[in-house]
Amino acid sequence: MHVLVVEDDNLLGDALQAGLRDRGFAVDWVRDGIAADTVLRTGDFAAVVLDLGLPRRSGLDVLKQLRARGQSVPVLVLTARDAIDDRVAGLDAGADDYVVKPAAIAELAARLRALVRRAHGAGSEQLVIGELALEGSTRRVSYRGSEVELNAREFDLLRELMLNAGRVLTREQLEQRLYDGDGAVESNTIEVFIHHLRRKLAPEVIRTIRGVGYVLPRGGGGGHG
Ligand code: CA
Repeated sequence: MHVLVVEDDNLLGDALQAGLRDRGFAVDWVRDGIAADTVLRTGDFAAVVLDLGLPRRSGLDVLKQLRARGQSVPVLVLTARDAIDDRVAGLDAGADDYVVKPAAIAELAARLRALVRRAHGAGSEQLVIGELALEGSTRRVSYRGSEVELNAREFDLLRELMLNAGRVLTREQLEQRLYDGDGAVESNTIEVFIHHLRRKLAPEVIRTIRGVGYVLPRGGGGGHG
């Protein structure tokens, strides 16, 4: 699996490259935003690990340009521990997932594999719950007849909730299903993606059952009135 690592910190970049190679990835490593943009235009990568704070061009700009060109390669963003804004901005700009620095290589590798597998493993299923519709083959989602842009994680999370409509899923269950049982997921990851889904769809589409988990009501959540 050929991945691109974009990281200007030499120590971290070196560790990422070595660690991912140890785990069977072929790794290209570039250290600034212009170099990243150049190789992304021509390179054929299964996934990208992208630092946001880069010299010459920010990771966020690299990501926006990538998506503006219509390239859908999965992107996993590296963010600093306290930089919640970075995370949100990264996801809004088209990142599929994020990992907080310093990233454990095992977690990073597991997330990359999961992202790539999901990007390729589109099913033919069509799910319709209330006014929500999801199509597996195209990974398209619409709500009340309007198409909604979701990243890979948001899509997977919504799909899981739709498959289990009317049933409460705990955060742990969702983490297991989205991250293939990898135990090293940040504790608020699911909350972040739930928040995004509510913002992109409607707040009532996903209900929080306090102390238990989340449920997508069978009526699709927006059906009252
Ligand atoms: Ca940096």
